[in-house]
Amino acid sequence: MMIAKPALKNLLNSVKVPLTPQRKDLIVKAFEFAEKAHQGQKRRSGEDYFTHCIATAQILAGIGMGSKTISAGLLHDVPEDTPITLAEIKKEFGQEVHDLVEGITKLGKIKLRETKEEYLLENLRKMFLAMAADIRVVIIKLADRLHNMRTLEFNPPEKRPNIARETMEIFVPIADRLGIGEIKAELEDLSFKYLDPKNYEMVKKLRDDYYKEGEQFKNQAIKELEKEIKNRGIKVLRIYGRAKNLRSLFLKLEKKEMDIGRIYDLIAIRIIVPNVSDCYEILGIVHKIYRPMVGRIKDYISLPKPNGYQSIHTTIFGPQGRIMEVQIRTQKMHDESEFGIASHWIYNENKRRDWKNYFRKQETYSENELVWIKQLHEWQSEVGKDNKAFLEGLKIDFFKNRIFAITPKGDAIDLPEEATPIDFAYAIHSEIGDSISSAKADGKMIPLDYQIKNGQMIEIMTTKEKKLPNRKWLEFVKTSNARAHIKRQLKRNDEII
Ligand code: MN
Repeated sequence: MMIAKPALKNLLNSVKVPLTPQRKDLIVKAFEFAEKAHQGQKRRSGEDYFTHCIATAQILAGIGMGSKTISAGLLHDVPEDTPITLAEIKKEFGQEVHDLVEGITKLGKIKLRETKEEYLLENLRKMFLAMAADIRVVIIKLADRLHNMRTLEFNPPEKRPNIARETMEIFVPIADRLGIGEIKAELEDLSFKYLDPKNYEMVKKLRDDYYKEGEQFKNQAIKELEKEIKNRGIKVLRIYGRAKNLRSLFLKLEKKEMDIGRIYDLIAIRIIVPNVSDCYEILGIVHKIYRPMVGRIKDYISLPKPNGYQSIHTTIFGPQGRIMEVQIRTQKMHDESEFGIASHWIYNENKRRDWKNYFRKQETYSENELVWIKQLHEWQSEVGKDNKAFLEGLKIDFFKNRIFAITPKGDAIDLPEEATPIDFAYAIHSEIGDSISSAKADGKMIPLDYQIKNGQMIEIMTTKEKKLPNRKWLEFVKTSNARAHIKRQLKRNDEII
C-alpha cells in the first residue's frame, strides 16, 4: 500500500512492535476511517480535530502498544463526537477494537468530581481502573489526556487549573501505578505548570541554567566514558544525559532549602547495556575514571526496589570535580521503568516518595484496599515477566466478577457481581443493613433483591423503628458479610423469644 500522508507515515514509523502487513493494514484503515469521520471538525487550537487522534495514537505507539490499541487510539473519539456508531466500528474493525473504543467511551462518562477528600480520590482511581475491564483502555485514556494536557493552553484560562488538578489527582497516580514513568512525568510537569506557574517557572529556569552551565562537564564525562568502555570492548546500547522531572525536582528542592547545589542527581548520565554482567563492568569503569562519593552506590539490580525497579546508581565526582549521578541498566530494565506496568504502589504505604505529597496523608489502607493492591501487584509482576502478553493486551481478570456501586456521598463500594441493595447496605454498616426499608438506584426505587449494576449510585432508606432482617433475604444476598449479619440477628432474636 502506498502511504502518501506524512502523519500516517510518521505514526507507522514509531510503532515499536514488529509491523506485520496485517497490523499495518489495520492502522492504515483506522487512520483513514477516523480522519473521514472527524472531517471538518476543529480543535480549540484551530487545528483539525483529527490531529488529536493522531497524537493519541502516536503516544501509544511510542510506549510500545500494539496495532489494535493504536487503532483504538485513532478511533477513540469517533462514537462520541461523530454520527458513526460503535456497531459500525465493530463491523469494520472487529470485536477487540470495538471493545477498546467502547471502554474509552464509557470511561469518558465517569464524572471525576472535584474534591479534596483523599479517600474519595482513591476510590475514583480505583473505580476508573475497575470500569475499564481491559487495562489497554486506561492506557489509551492516559494518552488522550496527555495530548489534551499538551494543548491545555487553548482552553479558556479559568478552565485550565481544574483540568490540571484532575490530571494531577487522578491520571498521574494511575500512570504511576501502572509504572508508565514516561507518561507520568510529563502529565505531572504539565499539571504543575498550570497549578503552580510561579514555582514551575522558577524551577525550570533554575534547572535550565544549571544544565547549561553543567552541560560541558556532562558531555565531557560521556565522551570519556564512551572511550574507556570502547577500549574494554563492551557494547553500549545508549549513553545519554537525562533531565530530572520538574515537579520531583521542586519537591526535592523544598527539602533542601531550595539549594540546587545539594541535589546530586540533577545531572545524570544513563548508560544502557545488553546484559546484567555488563552493568557491573561498567560500574567498575566509571569508578576507575571518576571517584565515587562515599555511601552513594546503590545496587538496585541485586536488591531491586520493592516496586521492581532495577538499575545501578552511583554518584561521582566527574570532570572538574563536578558531582553527577551515573545510572546503569539493561534495556529490559529501562523499558520496564519507562513504559512498564510494574507497581510503584504497594510499598509506598510507609515510604512514600516526596512527589507523592498530594496523597501523603492517606497512610493506612483498609484490608480490602490491601487485597486489591496486592492483586494488582501480583498481576502486574506476572505481566512483567512476559512483555508480549502486555503488548498484545490482556484483561484484568480479578475485576471480572466485581462491581463498584457508589454511595450518595461518592464512596465506591466494592461488591461481587449480582450483589443486591442488602449487600450494599451491610457493606456500609451492619446497622444500616438491619434497618433497611427500601432502596434507590440512580434515583429510582428498586426492589431489595435487585441486582446492582457497575457504577450505579445506590441510596438506602432506613427505618428508625427496631426492625429485624427478613429471613427471605438469605435467599438472594451475595456477600458472606450480609449473610452472617442476617443470621446472627435472627438467631439473637430467636434466643430472646
Ligand atoms: Mn480524546
